[in-house]
Formats: sequence, structure tokens, C-alpha cells
Amino acid sequence: MVPSPCCGEKLKIIGSKERKLIKDCGERLTLIVRRMRCSQCYKIHHELPDCIVPYKRYESSCVEQAITKTKNLEVAVPAHESTLHRWRSWFHAQSAYWLGCLTSIAIRYLEDPVERPSNASQSVHHTLGHVVGDAPGWLATIVRSVANENLWVHTRSAFLSD
Ligand SMILES: [Zn+2]
Repeated sequence: MVPSPCCGEKLKIIGSKERKLIKDCGERLTLIVRRMRCSQCYKIHHELPDCIVPYKRYESSCVEQAITKTKNLEVAVPAHESTLHRWRSWFHAQSAYWLGCLTSIAIRYLEDPVERPSNASQSVHHTLGHVVGDAPGWLATIVRSVANENLWVHTRSAFLSD
């Protein structure tokens, strides 16, 4: 049983909803995401599979590739060029916020606070890489950490067509 991210109390499963997902290979999947309610404050949470970036239909590894590789031809993702461009803008808009979230999460759980690289000119992307590493799955790691703390910012309106 996973404790609720808000109060650390029991989560009661109250239902589920479907999420559509497009895998790297273009295969379409439908996942069942469970709705859960905190037994303390009654806040609703959605169980978030690792492979999902909230409110994006593509697997996070697709988005990760698009962000990491700057040449569209190198991105083996069945997405339109304008979609790749939107993902990159989205990442750049969110990354400073995520870095702040990850730092505060680390402090909250009394882990060693993230050490900032001394070179101030390093990009946020580089700094995030310092925190979560750059092995495949780094984006899912960020998403899971931020979303589990209910710190995820829903930018759904900007990505409605995705
Ligand atoms: Zn709660």
C-alpha cells in the first residue's frame, strides 16, 4: 500500500480511468490509471505509471528523445516536427521549476540537498542531468518525483493537440 503524497495516510481506490499512450514504435496502448482518495483529507490522486508524462499521449521516452536530440532526423519518434518543437519548448519552460521541486523534495526527505555545479553558466538541462543522471528514463524519474509530491504543473491547454 502506497501512502498518500499529501498526508502519508492510506489511499482508498475509488475508480479508474483510461489513458491513451503512443509507444516509441507508434503502437497505441490504453492504460488503466487508478483514482485514489486520501483517507485523511479526501484529496484525489491518480496513480501515475512511470512511462507517462502527465497529459501527454506519448510515452515519456519519446519526449525524452526529442528533448535530448536537437536534430529532428535523429529522433525515432512517430511525431510531427511541430510536436517535437513543442516538447522542447515545454521542457525548457518547465526545467527550472522541476529543478526547484527536486531540490525541495531532497531537503524535505533530509537527503543531501542537490549540489549546484559551481559554473553558473551551465544550462538548467545540464544541472538537471547532474541531479537525475542522463541514463534513459531520466525524464520519467523527474516526472515521478514531481508528480508524487503533487507539484506537477498541468500545462494541458498548451498541449491539447498532443
Ligand atoms: Zn491527504
